[in-house]
This record gives sequence, structure tokens and C-alpha cells, in this order.
Amino acid sequence: MTADYILQIKNLIKYFPIYGGLIGKEIAKVHAVDDVSFSLAKGKTLGLVGESGCGKSTLGRTILRLIEPTSGTIVFNGKDISKLSQKELRYLRKEFQIVFQDPFASLNPRMSIREILSEPFEIHKLYTNKNERELKIISLLNEVGLNPEFIDRYPHEFSGGQRQRIGIARAISLNPKIIICDEPVSALDVSIQSQILNLMMDLRDKYHLSYIFIAHDLSVIEHISDDVAVMYLGKIVEYTSSDNLYSKPLHPYTKALISSIPKHDIVEKRKRQVIQGDIPSPINPPSGCRFHTRCPFAKEICSEKIPDLKNMGTHSSPHFVSCHFTKELSDKTI
Ligand code: SF4
Repeated sequence: MTADYILQIKNLIKYFPIYGGLIGKEIAKVHAVDDVSFSLAKGKTLGLVGESGCGKSTLGRTILRLIEPTSGTIVFNGKDISKLSQKELRYLRKEFQIVFQDPFASLNPRMSIREILSEPFEIHKLYTNKNERELKIISLLNEVGLNPEFIDRYPHEFSGGQRQRIGIARAISLNPKIIICDEPVSALDVSIQSQILNLMMDLRDKYHLSYIFIAHDLSVIEHISDDVAVMYLGKIVEYTSSDNLYSKPLHPYTKALISSIPKHDIVEKRKRQVIQGDIPSPINPPSGCRFHTRCPFAKEICSEKIPDLKNMGTHSSPHFVSCHFTKELSDKTI
């Protein structure tokens, strides 16, 4: 974890109100993102992991201000952008891009690849000279490993992996500083996944990009992430370097997630740990530690008091964990 940060998220909250009754009064809230803080270093990747419904995609979109935060601070390159108007944000939008999970749904089927990749330049009035724009699009296609002869083809003429390459070409076209990668390989075959991950790592290193890489599967982000934050029901429960997390996970939830990775070194040494029950509803999340309804180590205090996210590592190698019994459970498996 380094101190040269491109993005700092502080106490970010996103609640979605639910309205009901005859007069449409607010009757409840979905606690999608609840008091989340982390930092993303320049040129690095932060993996954001958790089960479906834990709030990781909402967090990604809230950081981009595609969804407005309820409260909290988003500091980009030293500037607080959380309260900027959408007009003020327009110029900054070039700096943040997103790669979606489903490349087919994210590409307009009626537009050719030339049109899809021209769109960001149209919006931001870049490469207005026709030849320059053509050359730029060709170089983007080369960059992501696609044959420039495909320039006039349409999305349905490509495989899933090729479509994701087009999505990546569009994301890098404006030279962003941060790309939020929202499950970009989970819809792809395993053999294609590693090709796309390698491409993304090459582009990150070449252009000093910073990624927030969202996944539900810890094995996917193991090699691409410098740091990892594990989310459970809207909160970060463990946050540290990738090395720390995979070699010595401390939170019971993380231990169970890591143990479920097939053929992982750790699994060879430990029994597979299965978390019982389903993730509770974020509309009325459990009191205290949100994991207490599924945690086999839960004691009375766990349902009464929210555990702080405490640094259980060192100053130079921090390891944040949110559990009342981190020390006692450090060598325990579920
Ligand atoms: Fe389990 Fe309690 Fe720790 Fe939560 S605080 S992870 S319920 S032991």
C-alpha cells in the first residue's frame, strides 16, 4: 500500500430509499454502501470482492457519480469531486472510465466498431480531423489485439472476448486515469478470462492506469490486484495488500471465500470452508457485525456492536480487519 493516491474514498454511503403506502412515504432504505473508505494508488489495482448483492457494483458506480452518493467524500487527484455539479463533472469524465460485465449489452448493436470508438471523440471534440480519428481508432484496435480490418463490423459479429476487447478499447480511448472494471471477465470462458486479464495488466503498466477491479471470485483478482478490499453487505470487512490477504486472511468471511478457490495452495493445506445461509437483505441489515448471522464464531457482542475496521498489520504493511475477535480467530478456520 503506497501513499501516492489517485483516489481516496472517505466514509462513502449510498442508501436507496423505498417508498410505500398511499402517499408514497419513505418506509425503508436499502443500505447498499455503508461507510466505505479506501485509497487507490497511482498505477495500481484495487480488487473489490464479495458475493452478489454486497454493494460492490453500486460502490463502483457511486465513485463515478453515475449514482449520486448519500454522503461521504470522493477525492480524485487531490480534488473533492463528490459535490461537483454534473456540468462541472463533464470535463473530468474523461479521466474515469468503466468496463462492464456484459460486453454485448454495453455495445450498441446498431453501431459499427468505427462508430462505437468514434463516439467518445465526438462527445469530447477530439480528433476532429477525419484521418487522424481513423488512425487513432486503428491504433486502439491494435492496442487491444483486434484486427483493424474489423473496423466496419458490428458487435454481433464478434465473440464475447473480442467484444470485451472493444469495451476496453473504448475505455482507454480518452487516456483515462482510472478505470472501474465491473466483473469484466465473469461472463467469459476461463481460457479467455486470462487473455483479457493479461491485456488489462499490460495496458495498466503501459499507460499507468489505476484500476478498481470488481469481482465476486477472489481467484480472478489474485494476480491483477495490488490491494484487495473484501465487502460484505455494504461494508468493507478486510482490506490489505494482495500478498497479505491471500497468505494470511484474517476475517472469517475472507477465509471462507479463499478456501472456496479450487486448487489454491491454501486449500491444499486447509479444509474447504462453507459459509452457511444466504446473504441477508440490505434493506434491514443485521445489527452489530453484519456477518454475525452466518459466522460460526459469533458471540453476544457481535450482534450488539459494529466492529471497527482496525489495522492488525504494521504501519508499512497495513492489514485492516473488522472483527471483534481477530486475534483470537487468527489461526481458526470455519
Ligand atoms: Fe464473526 Fe463476531 Fe468477528 Fe463478526 S465480529 S466476524 S460475527 S466473530
